[in-house]
Amino acid sequence: MTTPTTPEQLRQWDNDHVWHPFTPMQAYREEDAPIIERGEGFSLFDVNGTEYLDGISSLWCNVHGHQVPEIDAAIKEQLGKIGHSTLLGLSSTPSIELAKKLVELTPENLTKVFYTDSGATAVEAALKIAYQYHQQKKSGPEDRRLFGTVRGAYHGDTIGSVSVGSMELFHSIYGKLLFETVTVPSPAVLHRPDGTSAADSIQHCFDEAERIITEHGDQLAAFIVEPLVQGAAGILVHPQGYLKHLRELTSRHGIPLIADEVAVGFGRTGTLFACEQEEVQPDLMCVAKGLTGGYLPVAATLASDEIFEAFLAEPAAGKTFFHGHTFTGNPLGCAAALASIELFEQNSILEKTQQNAAIMAEKLKPLADHPNVGEVRQKGIMVGIELVARRDPVEAYPTTQRTGHLVTLAARKRGAILRPLGDVVVLMPAPAMPRELVERLCDIAVDAIVEVTESVRLN
Ligand SMILES: *Cc1c(COP(=O)(O)O)cnc(C)c1O
Repeated sequence: MTTPTTPEQLRQWDNDHVWHPFTPMQAYREEDAPIIERGEGFSLFDVNGTEYLDGISSLWCNVHGHQVPEIDAAIKEQLGKIGHSTLLGLSSTPSIELAKKLVELTPENLTKVFYTDSGATAVEAALKIAYQYHQQKKSGPEDRRLFGTVRGAYHGDTIGSVSVGSMELFHSIYGKLLFETVTVPSPAVLHRPDGTSAADSIQHCFDEAERIITEHGDQLAAFIVEPLVQGAAGILVHPQGYLKHLRELTSRHGIPLIADEVAVGFGRTGTLFACEQEEVQPDLMCVAKGLTGGYLPVAATLASDEIFEAFLAEPAAGKTFFHGHTFTGNPLGCAAALASIELFEQNSILEKTQQNAAIMAEKLKPLADHPNVGEVRQKGIMVGIELVARRDPVEAYPTTQRTGHLVTLAARKRGAILRPLGDVVVLMPAPAMPRELVERLCDIAVDAIVEVTESVRLN
């Protein structure tokens, strides 16, 4: 055994060698960010033994907490059999059992499960499946190569998933590498006072979706949407009926609808999957983050029979889906996912989530009148609090000030880990988080926001 590394050494090596994702590294090295050693329940503990409430479920993926006995046991039991074997031309017990389970739980028309290992790769697979589907479909081949998206969408960071995303800050640098898309306006971006009433704007967005999808009806290979909530765009909540509207429009033109449930899936919006709330059956559906209870990198793209059957032919016909990742359908991850899904029922997680959503709405009410809070957006237990320099007319804080980030630092001092989206403070408790911890998380967020907005006003 080597001697344990000291916290100081770890700090030095972190600064010397680890390139953190989505992190401005020059600033990071001066921040003394917690180095997490272990988790227990809904807390994270750093190498100095300091405890933090996990306010963003370890980036929107943790479901039942950390060191959950049932999930730990399932992984250990699987580890006693095998850690990894391939799904390329072979199968494995947990991957089969999980596929069966996912087909039971997701919308009725979805019957096939293509495994990947992250949200981005689940989306990437869905895009390629849709593209290939049109060339091989029973009704006759079509060369459809356009993808439809919603403005401000986020679907991951690989080039394909970035192509169907439209977050200016993350994506503009790669513009020249991306394939072509058509974008419909997001019906969620309505909070900027622009003279039109919300109802007018919503109707305009519904109409624009219809116009644009109709105009490109025979060119669209697929339309991809984050059902109900655009997460990374700042927890933008779609108006009721929008998802159903997109389903009707895409069905009319034979366009597969891809539901990216990577963030909203597994309870976050109050139902197991967001599509359920509008009784929408997508042709392809991506799940990742919460699938394994947030334990391990397993993701899946579910497909309908109609899609799958376009890939059935003699091997020599070349209709195979030539796509896959080495660790696809990893048995440890699938075992964790099966255990996590069982806990949903056993612990009435969806009921708990709905109760937590109500608690959050209540606890965050005081922010509605705060002069530096533009909007508190919420769907289920997904919350985005938009900070503004001024409310009326709306004026954003200068980005150089990193106000959202300052709130994260203030929350950290108070014992909670948060991660903002620009100046949107995100709260994303695990669906199973007990009531008193949800309350504490809200209190910490409110206090941190009050402190930071006051101090930047004085500066
Ligand atoms: C996080 C996210 C992704 C990407 O998932 P990764 O596992 O980080 O690749 C894709 N789509 C949505 C909606 C997400 O929130």
